[in-house]
Amino acid sequence: MPEMLASYVAGTWYTAPDEGIVVVDAATGDPVARVSSTGLDTRAAVEHARRVGGPALRRLTFHERAAALKALATHLDSKKSTYYELSTSTGATRRDSAVDIDGGIATTFAFSGAGKRELPEGYVLADGDMVQMGKEGTFVGRHVYTALPGAALQINAFNFPVWGMLEKLAPAVLAGMPSIVKPATQTAYLTAAVVRDIVASGALPEGAVQLVCGGLGDLLDHLGGQDLIAFTGSASTATVLRGHTAVMARATRFNAETDSLNCSILGPDALAGTPEFDLFVKEVAREMTVKAGQKCTAIRRAFVPQPAIDDFVSALQARLAKVVVGNPRNEAVTMGALVSLRQRDEVRAAVQSLRHAAEIVSGDPENVEPIDADSHRGAFIAPILMRCTDADRSEPHDIEAFGPVSTVIAYKAVDDVADLAARGNGSLVGSIVSHDPDFVREVVLAAAPHHGRLLVLDRDCAAESTGHGTPMPQMVHGGPGRAGGGEELGGVRAVKHYMQRTALQGSPAAIAAIVGAA
Ligand code: NAP
Repeated sequence: MPEMLASYVAGTWYTAPDEGIVVVDAATGDPVARVSSTGLDTRAAVEHARRVGGPALRRLTFHERAAALKALATHLDSKKSTYYELSTSTGATRRDSAVDIDGGIATTFAFSGAGKRELPEGYVLADGDMVQMGKEGTFVGRHVYTALPGAALQINAFNFPVWGMLEKLAPAVLAGMPSIVKPATQTAYLTAAVVRDIVASGALPEGAVQLVCGGLGDLLDHLGGQDLIAFTGSASTATVLRGHTAVMARATRFNAETDSLNCSILGPDALAGTPEFDLFVKEVAREMTVKAGQKCTAIRRAFVPQPAIDDFVSALQARLAKVVVGNPRNEAVTMGALVSLRQRDEVRAAVQSLRHAAEIVSGDPENVEPIDADSHRGAFIAPILMRCTDADRSEPHDIEAFGPVSTVIAYKAVDDVADLAARGNGSLVGSIVSHDPDFVREVVLAAAPHHGRLLVLDRDCAAESTGHGTPMPQMVHGGPGRAGGGEELGGVRAVKHYMQRTALQGSPAAIAAIVGAA
């Protein structure tokens, strides 16, 4: 039997006494770890965060916290070969692992830099200028942010076991709030390895980070109005959590990053032969295949002007034909496995539902011949391109196949494409690939309220562009509606999510003494 993952709670490593759930390698089906939280003292975790981790973090100034993050990121960077090895078991190729591991470490460095540059050398963060409230100027107001004295419960999805944790942990540390990390069971072994190194490094004070491997039990029952839940995962789990008494009755803060039917739009100016057409084909192919399409930001819907549709489908078919599916340990492989056989079943079922509205024009969801692997034991699937000829159908805008699956839909006019984009009911990201500023402007103004992020991609920015699917630490990540309505990242903005904003009123001297002394 594989080893049971230990949780880290109240300063000790806890191993559950039962058999737990056996998690297997995505490509080989071999057991990797067991996961269980049976018997874990969840109250102790919350109390430890409040009484030990939080006060210790808040004794440090913002700049000292930023320095701690830098030391942490440097330490994790020196350990990353171990993470790469473990990451392969999640089905990830080296390129996929880089997004998760190097992306997570880079995000930690970025928060450290932002903390040093943009936060004061103190404990209180002023928001905006002093506002004069009386005629004589003796009574003024200023908004200030102070760290919440509670615990930040961070619940993560399976697809980014490293980045998903670090992008939440880093702003929480900067804010002065302790984290309880709960990774998805399926890939918890990789998160656990990183947390072990975080604890051993001593870069953060004791209690700043705790780990729960397995279910949360009754942990939410112990949360109150100074605590926070930062959730990433499916919309259905978000709905369950949002309805918990902690959130409903005790106003525990709740942030959700959920599913998204992200779209990419090719401009009418960008027919075959233009640089934008080539960029679009490349971007859609990349988004379909990186992490085998298991990215919340992946392009699920490609909107193409009617005159370009046949050229686009042919060009993408040619690219997808070159994708080598198989065991990510083999260097020839360009797309690894889905995280589990269950996930593959779910993707296949989603493709079947999409088929009511669209035909498959590339790939077979039931058959693939992976190299260096057994297609029955590993969770492999071919990239699937679908073409929907009836733009009024709801399926492509409703069904998230969380794998290498995209649907292409033709549009005729600018208004049509703006409507199609909005039918995703709120997305994390959309992209417009065009070199026509009028078209771009019109689409951006219509689509922006439905998106957390919009990328305008053209020949001028392509060389430096970070791409459709990559959330950057400096820019907001999150989206309205179906995407969860939450917000993460965005530089020091993310730090404020872990703090309370208070309208401080008094004399200029009294307020300056507080903010200035900070
Ligand atoms: P999930 O099934 O919703 O699980 C997400 C997390 O919630 C896991 O840690 C899971 O733990 C936990 N969880 C499940 N039920 C829970 C409950 N009743 N109480 C407390 N925690 C609970 O999602 P997933 O399958 O891991 O991830 C795939 C989904 O996440 C996709 O829909 C994708 O679009 C979305 N996603 C969104 C973003 C974003 O930034 N917006 C990023 C990545 C993924 P267990 O694993 O132990 O069940």
